Amino acid sequence: MAVTLGTPLAKVLGPKTGTGMAEQLGLHTVLDLLRHYPRRYARRGEQTDLADVQVGDRVTVLAQVRSVTTRPMRNRRGSLTEVVVGDGSGRMKLVFFNHRHAQLKPNAWGMFAGTVGEYRGEKQFAHPDMHLLDGADDDTDWARALVPIYPASKDVSSWVIQKSVKLLLGAGGGFGELVEDPLPEEIRARHGLLPLAAALLDIHRPTTMEDVERAGHRLKWDEALTLQLTLAARRRAAALESGVARPRRPGGLLDAVDAALPFALTEGQREVGEELAAELDRDQPMHRLLQGEVGSGKTVVALRAMAQVVDAGGQAALLAPTEVLAAQHVRGIRALLGPLGRAGELDGDADGTRVTLLTGSLKAAAKREARAEVAEGRAGIVVGTHALLQEGVEFADLGLVVVDEQHRFGVEQRDALRAKGNRPPHVLVMTATPIPRTVAMTVYGDLEVSTLRQLPSGRGGVSSSVVPVVEKPAWLDRAWERLREEVAAGRQAYVVCPRIGDLPGDEPEDADGAPPEEDGRSDRRPPLAVLDVAEALRAGPLAGLRLDVLHGRMTPEEKDGVMRAFAAGETQVLVATTVVEVGVDVPNATVMVVMDADRFGVSQLHQLRGRVARGKHAGLCLLVTEAPSASPTGQRLAAVASTSDGFELARLDLETRREGDVLGAAQSGRRSGIKLLSLLEDEELIAEARAEAIALLSTDRGLADHPGLAAEVAALASDERAEWLEKA
Ligand code: ADP
Ligand code: MG
Repeated sequence: MAVTLGTPLAKVLGPKTGTGMAEQLGLHTVLDLLRHYPRRYARRGEQTDLADVQVGDRVTVLAQVRSVTTRPMRNRRGSLTEVVVGDGSGRMKLVFFNHRHAQLKPNAWGMFAGTVGEYRGEKQFAHPDMHLLDGADDDTDWARALVPIYPASKDVSSWVIQKSVKLLLGAGGGFGELVEDPLPEEIRARHGLLPLAAALLDIHRPTTMEDVERAGHRLKWDEALTLQLTLAARRRAAALESGVARPRRPGGLLDAVDAALPFALTEGQREVGEELAAELDRDQPMHRLLQGEVGSGKTVVALRAMAQVVDAGGQAALLAPTEVLAAQHVRGIRALLGPLGRAGELDGDADGTRVTLLTGSLKAAAKREARAEVAEGRAGIVVGTHALLQEGVEFADLGLVVVDEQHRFGVEQRDALRAKGNRPPHVLVMTATPIPRTVAMTVYGDLEVSTLRQLPSGRGGVSSSVVPVVEKPAWLDRAWERLREEVAAGRQAYVVCPRIGDLPGDEPEDADGAPPEEDGRSDRRPPLAVLDVAEALRAGPLAGLRLDVLHGRMTPEEKDGVMRAFAAGETQVLVATTVVEVGVDVPNATVMVVMDADRFGVSQLHQLRGRVARGKHAGLCLLVTEAPSASPTGQRLAAVASTSDGFELARLDLETRREGDVLGAAQSGRRSGIKLLSLLEDEELIAEARAEAIALLSTDRGLADHPGLAAEVAALASDERAEWLEKA
């Protein structure tokens, strides 16, 4: 059989292994398996592995048998064998019932895989999978210094993968001919890159770590270049699109907004505003990312752009990640526009427009009415959640799409909304998560970037502290006292918890950035819940204060009512889930207490903290945690408390999250083809790949002379589309 990179694995490896790989690891073809790189390399006698494994981890270790003892079981028939293995520093116990492995004797080397358990404080594997290195079959492999350890699954162990890869690498007719190198020779030469076949050989069967390094560098290039070509192609396609110019018209909504603003725009807001105004006035659609620190005043910049588009006869849509935020935007915009935002109503101004809210939980009749307003063009400004993206939602003339808190959405959602324009609309996406350069070059590589650097003046600033309740229980009492003092001074407070409560087994409400179980503790108590905490506070430290709760299980009317009461100052303390994470804007709130702060990601905490000190008063953010100060979690929280520099935190966030998460739901994992590339460490490589991608596409022939690259780009694109279709 002629094996090609596209041959299904089942044909090469047999149906059982093939199915296991496809179903559990998502590997379907020969190329998929060759691109399934080792997670790490074990060395015999290496000092670290066993000492590092955590209870609950599924791991493969290479270790030597130290002792074997077998004894009959006390209460049952059969025997129990305990095997102690070690790798130089650490030791671990393996437990087998009725075991009959004659070769499992002291001094034997083996690979052992399983889920690390714990028994009487000692780490152990209960009946692990194992492969003893008995010097028989693939002797030469085991004699190597470096043994690749692959990401494995329940039925497909690391050594099955290793054997399968070996089979492919040794495939008859020469592996070199099987693998066609998509990278053009000149690019390889310019950057000193290995040919693909050599790189694959080295990453799977290295002799030294230098081999791994060089091979990895080359393989990262594949990833970076494909991604950059895709983005460059998007930019080129965008540049060729023609949309509709939406010029500024004096005497309209925009002037009314400017007149109604209760503050002067910051210099940054004015500058970005002019940039946007000029771009909206062109018929080539704008594709712009507005990044600005939490509280820097992005909303008003977006609103002014929307007003310009409405003045020019188009509609503007604002997509928000939560209903609370969508409702707040509508309230704020309506308040600012006054009668001009109520065209068609009794007290409305006939020259104005309508501000329409469209969310998933509107009642059927209200939804129908909202959709009609949008479709007939009566609604100039449409604010909504994911419901905006649905089929059935049609615009009369969509001129501008604004995506608020872009990090909550994927490229697909942006595109889905864009597709609702008769002609390609202008696009403005906004994020408060500052973007490291590499992320800007990758995730947002098809957008121009504007930045709001300054906060509106007169802000009090937020001071943050960690409250380690286990070490310093008294600090928590002090925290509630501080909260009471602020409330006594007329301010308001948030208390945020990771969970809603009440229902058995309810899931954390969207604690998306938190690194799961990073301490390997699987026995943690459930996260604190809004309902429980609210009750305890009412009965205890915050007794007598006007306290209310807000969470995702409430109806939109309930949520809206609670937010209104809080915004109006009637409620003093709001105990909430992360529904208040993004965008919520109540300038009188000055205290943010985050319970179980360790359950949240860095960016989330930064966002939460952004809810306070939005007015002239100084803010206080308290991160309450049971994590010890010295633990990695404790240190992560201390880092959040010690800086409000969003860029620094974004970097920290990158470090604590997986690359796939950073690339966002839309571009994560398999589809983005990102396995080796690190946004944190490969900045230079990404910049070089970007330059090569631009150069490649700037010639008339584009990728015509590079069919291999074209195929990789096409594969990435079609994967993306396929996935989107599935979701839609
Ligand atoms: P973000 O950029 O986080 O979305 P917002 O747009 O919600 O921030 O603005 C935060 C707060 O600052 C709001 O209350 C807003 O009204 C206020 N604000 C915006 N621009 C200014 C300004 N130039 N001067 C004073 N306050 C401003
Ligand atoms: Mg905002």
